Amino acid sequence: MIETDVLIVGAGPVGLTLAMDLALRGIAVTVAETRAAREVPTVRCNHVAARSMEIFRRLGLAHKLRQAGLPPDYPHDASFRTTVIGTEMSRIPIPCRRDRFTATGGPDTGWPTPEPPHRINQLYLEPILFDHAAAMDNIRLLNRTQVIGFAQDDTCVQATARDLATGQTFKIVSPYLVGCDGGRSMVRKAIGAKFVGDAVVQRVQSTYIRAPQLLEQMTGEPAWAIVSLNPRRSGTLYAIDGRERWIVHNYLQEHETDFAAIDRDWAIRTILGVADDFAYEVLNVEDWIGRRLVADRFRNGRVFICGDAAHIWVPYGGYGMNAGIADAANLAWLLAARLNGWGGPAILAAYEQERLPITEQVSHFAMNYAHHMIKNRRIVPANIEEDSQAGAALRAEFGQELYELNVQQYCCGGLNFGYYYDQSPLILYDGQPHPAYTMADFTPATVPGCRTPHFWLTDGRSLYDAMGPDYALLRFDPTVAVDKLLAAAEQRRMPLKVLDINPAAAPPAYTTKLLLSRPDQHIAWRGNDLPPNIKTLVDQLRGEAE
Ligand SMILES: Cc1cc2nc3c(=O)[nH]c(=O)nc-3n(C[C@H](O)[C@H](O)[C@H](O)COP(=O)(O)OP(=O)(O)OC[C@H]3O[C@@H](n4cnc5c(N)ncnc54)[C@H](O)[C@@H]3O)c2cc1C
Repeated sequence: MIETDVLIVGAGPVGLTLAMDLALRGIAVTVAETRAAREVPTVRCNHVAARSMEIFRRLGLAHKLRQAGLPPDYPHDASFRTTVIGTEMSRIPIPCRRDRFTATGGPDTGWPTPEPPHRINQLYLEPILFDHAAAMDNIRLLNRTQVIGFAQDDTCVQATARDLATGQTFKIVSPYLVGCDGGRSMVRKAIGAKFVGDAVVQRVQSTYIRAPQLLEQMTGEPAWAIVSLNPRRSGTLYAIDGRERWIVHNYLQEHETDFAAIDRDWAIRTILGVADDFAYEVLNVEDWIGRRLVADRFRNGRVFICGDAAHIWVPYGGYGMNAGIADAANLAWLLAARLNGWGGPAILAAYEQERLPITEQVSHFAMNYAHHMIKNRRIVPANIEEDSQAGAALRAEFGQELYELNVQQYCCGGLNFGYYYDQSPLILYDGQPHPAYTMADFTPATVPGCRTPHFWLTDGRSLYDAMGPDYALLRFDPTVAVDKLLAAAEQRRMPLKVLDINPAAAPPAYTTKLLLSRPDQHIAWRGNDLPPNIKTLVDQLRGEAE
């Protein structure tokens, strides 16, 4: 029998992020995973969002991830073409790894973050997360182990796991269990949560290929994503290694419900724009159905679900895994607060109250976007490839439309920085409205519930690095007395630090002399003076009230 503070079922990107965040907060974690150690996943997510990179920065991982992915000078651009090797209609510039921190003027440069987005396939991402987690104190990774069931009572969760090498079963006992076990989650089903939404938004015939000659046949600059649009077959190609490996997504039409009925080779050649003698090798077939499904609950008692176990949707906006990583960062500090003894009994309720509405909203953004793209693929003009002035004019016009639509998903600032928690029991709202956001756009704000807007301190440090992993009180006027708050926090053993900040460094969104940022970098409270009843404030931050 194993005893642990938290049992995490599943060592995908979400389970590993949760494990690392908990471990850094002093919690003993056991992670059970059916795959072998370092066994790579299928080719899936290609985009690590800026917000995820901010989280990885706090976990000490961002630098490692930046060193991996596409070659340093391989463009992370998205290009819109008639075929992969055909004429380019437009292009969204996204800096390559080498230029990520120096490039200016692009639609995702100049964002208020210490960690802009990164492009790396899950194939390369997961082993880095795994190695980092494996080297951490407080984490026990049980590979080739399947959790087959559990029961909970008032004090703990008792899970049954099977060692897949020997077939033997054993018990894992913990105060909390988190299912990060993917879209088919056993944990979700066991807690009685139901996926609700749209079961089919888009069918995609996906093929992972090796095509060493493809790069040299492209007429324009290479790109990370190449969206191929022509009247015969439209699809998207993502560069996996920047040399010879690619994933080709063939978006099926509504009436094409049988993956096997579509000639895969024909579709790939049509999307690429290559002749019958072009050589490529199929490395794997990865057909998938884009859905929009969100669980109707994220928790039952001592058991939680996170990531794909709680929500799946079409990967537009590149925000499937990234939404799961945000879940993990949210749940980690709440669980750690409770286990470390300063979080009150109500603190864990915040997880569902904060994350479920956001998840629901993002799922709709992604699906609406998918519908736009489905329509665009249907209306590709018949003469888009015509070698004439009229053809060129058409490509310029269509290309511009594609740019405007797709810049929202490939440079999705709103999904990264715009979302806020407006129904949290842990946040002290002050009646000010949260600024609306879209997939692409956001307005930095310090309304409680928003992400604490990032800026660089006058000594060159990132605000987030200076705030650290706990509650941080940002004080923009050193004459405002905050001792009473520090004393009340100390009395309740709630970790809190004060950070004195030169107001000249802060962006205009900062309008108050004090601002309290939570361990997950969302704003809990702001004001010019401490409120009269400081104990009530601290108790709300800790989730003391039932
Ligand atoms: C084609 C495609 C493209 C995508 N592109 C993007 C993108 O660009 N951006 C993005 O953000 N997302 C993208 N996604 C989504 C992304 O891949 C998932 O959201 C992400 O993998 C979810 O991570 P997870 O850790 O929640 O689940 P998973 O990655 O599914 O991991 C779950 C883990 O749990 C393990 N497990 C399951 N059951 C048990 C059990 N009973 N016991 C022990 N272990 C168990 C599994 O082996 C697995 O390792 C894409 C998905 C697809 C299909």
